[in-house]
Amino acid sequence: MATSLVLVAVAILAYRSFNATGSQRLDQSSFYDAVTEGRVKEVTIVPDAIGFEIRGTLHSHDTSAKRFTTYVLADRNLTRILSEERVSVKAEAPRRGSVLRLLGPWIFLVIFGAVFVFFMRRMQQGGGQVLSLRRSRAKLSSPNGKITFKDVAGVEEAKQELQEVVEFLEEPDKFQNLGGKIPTGVLLMGPPGTGKTLLARAVAGEAGVPFFSVSGSDFVEMFVGIGASRVRDLFEQGRKNAPCIVFVDELDAVGRQRGAGVGGGHDEREQTLNQLLVELDGFESNDGVIVLAATNRPDVLDPALLRPGRFDRQIVVDRPDVHGREEIIRIHARKVPLNVDVELGLVARGTPGFSGAELANLVNEAALNAAGQCRETVTRADFEHAKDKGLMGSARRSLVVSEEERRAMAYHQAGHALLAHLLPEADPLHKVTILPRGRALGTTQQIPAEDRHTASRPY
Ligand code: ADP
Repeated sequence: MATSLVLVAVAILAYRSFNATGSQRLDQSSFYDAVTEGRVKEVTIVPDAIGFEIRGTLHSHDTSAKRFTTYVLADRNLTRILSEERVSVKAEAPRRGSVLRLLGPWIFLVIFGAVFVFFMRRMQQGGGQVLSLRRSRAKLSSPNGKITFKDVAGVEEAKQELQEVVEFLEEPDKFQNLGGKIPTGVLLMGPPGTGKTLLARAVAGEAGVPFFSVSGSDFVEMFVGIGASRVRDLFEQGRKNAPCIVFVDELDAVGRQRGAGVGGGHDEREQTLNQLLVELDGFESNDGVIVLAATNRPDVLDPALLRPGRFDRQIVVDRPDVHGREEIIRIHARKVPLNVDVELGLVARGTPGFSGAELANLVNEAALNAAGQCRETVTRADFEHAKDKGLMGSARRSLVVSEEERRAMAYHQAGHALLAHLLPEADPLHKVTILPRGRALGTTQQIPAEDRHTASRPY
C-alpha cells in the first residue's frame, strides 16, 4: 500500500514539473486586453497549424512583471495590433514534438491508471492467498482407488472394532432406532508404520465413502487463527460430503495438552485445539461424518480430546505378531514372483518387532535386490539380504579387516553357533556370518519358533 502511495505521489509531481513553466496562463481575450492596455512589452510567438503559442511578460501597474503563456487562434490582426502597441515580437520556428506536449497529461493519466490497476490486482491476489491459507489442506480420495480390510493384516482386533464403524456408516438407522448415538471420533493409537492410515482408508473403502485426510501438523501455522479456521473448513467439507471419513494423522501435533510446554503453551495451537473440540462437540450423530485420528503419542494428548462424545473410542494398533507378519508379507508379496525356496513363514519368524511398514519395505528391498542381479524371481537369499540390511544396516564389504581379526571373529561366531546348537532350550540356529554389517563384524542369528514374551529359567 505504501509503495503505491509513493508511486502516485511521484506521478503527480512528475506531471506538475512537466507542466510547470512558472508562468501564468492567459486566455485569448485577456491577452488582447493586456496588449491594448500596454501591459505587454515583448512576446515570443511560436506558430503551429491552427494558431500561435505566445510567451511573454506581463507588467502590472505596480511595475512587477510576470511571465505568461497563451494560445491564440491564427489571426491576421495579431501582428498589426502588436506593432501598433509597440510590442517587440520574436518569432520561433514551429516546435516539433508538440504532439508529446499535447499528449503529456494523458500519458501521466495512463501511467497512473496502470499503476493503480496493478496494485489493485496485487491486493486482490494477496487477499486470495490469505483466503487459501484459511482453507484446510485436506486431501480427498474418492472411494474408487479402493483399499479394503483385505489389504491390512496383523491387526485383527482393530479391524473388528473398525468393522463396527463401517456398519455405522452403512446403516446408521439400525443403530439410531434404539436411541443409540453413533460415535463421532475414533482414535487409533500405535507405533509408526503399523497401518493406522491404512486402516482408516480401509474403513472408507469398505463403507464406500469419501476419505478426507489431513495431518495434524497442517493445522500448525505461524499465524494465529489460521489453524482454527482450517479446522472449521475441514469439518465443513466433511459435512458437505457426508457420509464420509475425516482422518487426522498425527493428532498429537494439535492435540497436545494445553498449557504445557515452554513459555506456558502456544496460543495458536491452543486455539486450534479448542476449535477442534468445538467442532467435535458440534457434530450430530446423524451428520454421517466419522472422524478417525491417529497418534503414536497418546500420552501427550489433551484429556479433553478423549472424553465421551469426542474421541471416546480408542483402538490400539500394535506391531504384528508372527502370524500377522506372515500375512502382511504375503499381502505385499502378492505382486512379487517368489522363488520356490522362499518360506514366508520363516521370514516372518526372523523379523520380530518389525512394523507393517518395515515389512512392506523388506519385500520391496528383496525385489529390488533380485532385479539388481537380473534374476526373474525373488529368492530366499534376497529376503535374507533385505532383512539383514533392515536389522543391521548395509554390508560393509570394503571394511578392512585383517586376516587375523577375521579368524578371531570366525572362532567367536562359531562359539555362539555351537552353543546355540548344543543347548537344549536355545532358539534354533538360523545363520552365522562374519560379513561385517553396520556396527557388527559378524553375527549368529537364532530365530525362535514363536514370538517370545517371557523367558523361562532353563531358557
Ligand atoms: P501409520 O499410519 O501407522 O504410520 P501407515 O498406515 O502409513 O502407518 O503404513 C505405511 C505402509 O506400511 C502402508 O501403506 C502399508 O503399505 C504398510 N503397512 C503398515 N501396516 C500394515 C498392515 N498391518 N498390513 C499391511 N500393510 C501395512
